[in-house]
Amino acid sequence: MTEDTIATLAFVLVIAAPIAYVIRKVLKESARIKAQNYEWYKSKYPQHVRRGRVECCHCGSPRIHTRTAGRTSVSEHYCSHCGVTLYFSMREL
Ligand SMILES: [Zn+2]
Repeated sequence: MTEDTIATLAFVLVIAAPIAYVIRKVLKESARIKAQNYEWYKSKYPQHVRRGRVECCHCGSPRIHTRTAGRTSVSEHYCSHCGVTLYFSMREL
């Protein structure tokens, strides 16, 4: 291996790999937020959504709260009893 090859390899491992990892993580999280919405929750757990009232799919609690998730335009709907995230929605700006 030449010095250039070693330098390139070191660059990839130290700089490019962590950057690629972070970008992939952000893209994956953003895809999850888009896919895991109210319609998804309703079709996945129809027994926990009745007449627009949502219950937790894990503990059955009707106490569902929202908080800002990651990006400021996304609301995370979570169970205030067991803390599990149920679905996401886009906040109106
Ligand atoms: Zn719960």
